[in-house]
Amino acid sequence: MKTGKDYLTSLRDGRKVYVHGARVDDVTIAPGLREPAEEIARGYDRFFDPAPGAYHPMFEVPRSAEDLRARIKMVFEADFTAFNSAACLALLGARGALRAADPVYVERIERFVARCRAEDVRIAEVISDAKGDRSLPPSRQADPDAYLRVVERRSDGVVVNGAKLHITAAPFVHELVVMPTKRMKAGDEDYTIAFSIPANAPGISMVTVTHAPRGDDVRHFPVSRRYAIPQAMVVFDHVFVPDDAIFLNGEIELSAAIAHSLGLWERLSGLAQMAEHADMLTGLAHLISEANGVSRAPHVADIIAHMAMYATITRANLEASLTQAEITEDGMAKPNELYVNAGKYYAASEYVLMVRHLHDVAGASVVTSPTMADLDNPDIGPFVEKYMKGAQGFESAHRMALFHAIRDLTADVLAGWHLGSNISAGGGLMAQRLVTRNQYDMQAADRLGWSAAGLAPGADG
Ligand SMILES: Cc1cc2nc3c(=O)[nH]c(=O)nc-3n(C[C@H](O)[C@H](O)[C@H](O)COP(=O)(O)OP(=O)(O)OC[C@H]3O[C@@H](n4cnc5c(N)ncnc54)[C@H](O)[C@@H]3O)c2cc1C
Repeated sequence: MKTGKDYLTSLRDGRKVYVHGARVDDVTIAPGLREPAEEIARGYDRFFDPAPGAYHPMFEVPRSAEDLRARIKMVFEADFTAFNSAACLALLGARGALRAADPVYVERIERFVARCRAEDVRIAEVISDAKGDRSLPPSRQADPDAYLRVVERRSDGVVVNGAKLHITAAPFVHELVVMPTKRMKAGDEDYTIAFSIPANAPGISMVTVTHAPRGDDVRHFPVSRRYAIPQAMVVFDHVFVPDDAIFLNGEIELSAAIAHSLGLWERLSGLAQMAEHADMLTGLAHLISEANGVSRAPHVADIIAHMAMYATITRANLEASLTQAEITEDGMAKPNELYVNAGKYYAASEYVLMVRHLHDVAGASVVTSPTMADLDNPDIGPFVEKYMKGAQGFESAHRMALFHAIRDLTADVLAGWHLGSNISAGGGLMAQRLVTRNQYDMQAADRLGWSAAGLAPGADG
């Protein structure tokens, strides 16, 4: 396994990364990128095991509901690239469909996952195309590169052009796992391509946005210092992909198999994170109401009860998605699609209301609290201490720390990122409605409807 130091060294591999309009030579020291790189390095160290053959649990294939639960716990303890390891599970989960097309794809996938595990690499899930005019299919776009495509076929591989957008952690990983973003139709064969490629392969550039804390005082950014995850536009300019790294090549009927499989794992991660955040928001609301001396006010207790209900329903969906897991023909446990999609949709849709509740309970210091450095200042600190005092028994410093956690999580750069991320990451809300509609037992619901109307099931239609 790699240590954090090995990991940071491995990123100095000539990868082409841009941030704020400038090329970055070393992502491990560039402002805004250094922090996430160091966070991942700490994650490597937390899980380091020198024993020969040891590997990170993110590469463990879940075989039961209990394994899935353990995976979720592990993802929270690991660094944020652990979420991305779902791409390996998605590839393995798509084996059933791919085997029928060509068993060689399955062999390559299994070799790739074994290599990720053996070399302790980190991967990015590279799916969302630029997409151009959303109303047109890939092959009818004004710019033929609006969706990533094969521009040349050689005896030993293919050459691809295009860009994938919003790619989480791309500048910090070793391998990019590329797959089609949606179901392709006849004429879209060149767009039906899935493969893995090293992040420093010739022709790849990454245009990165960072939401890293804008100051070094970690007390001011207690949440974002751990969870600020950069995304990147990954540009492929005539990139050669050798045959051995290709997992799908032109079979349009299978174009959605891997992405659909990944969507499920992505939304499970999203749901798990939202369940965690729901409890965190509720805890923050409760603690700050105590620090403010209003926890017993009926309207505040009512708001906090509402937040606790949101947290409980979100977690109930997560639990149901695990206990109702399906075991695939390859023996892998897959979370239940209905509960994952309905739960993720519900949690994302109601999140803004929970933030409103939290801000309502907490008050204006969420956005105006002096910093902890102000508290340290010998001239002004005593006044800050005096006037940031809330309820008896709560130290001003602790009350301020709560305000900074609330701001960092719900009212600052990371908060804006969360709002957008909750809605779009893992596929937009519409995708979750579609899957829910497909998975829901509508016939059973219809039978109840007929019965409520006093009619025999299927009386008409
Ligand atoms: C924080 C974050 C992290 C992400 N990480 C990754 C990642 O690691 N890898 C990755 O591949 N992607 C990632 N994504 C991208 C995410 O999967 C996409 O944002 C999502 O799939 C939606 O695509 P889009 O943003 O292009 O929106 P659009 O597809 O443009 O959707 C916008 C709206 O248009 C509607 N719409 C779109 N097409 C049509 C149509 N044909 N007809 C009618 N209506 C339509 C949609 O329903 C939606 O309401 C990430 C996104 C975020 C916010």
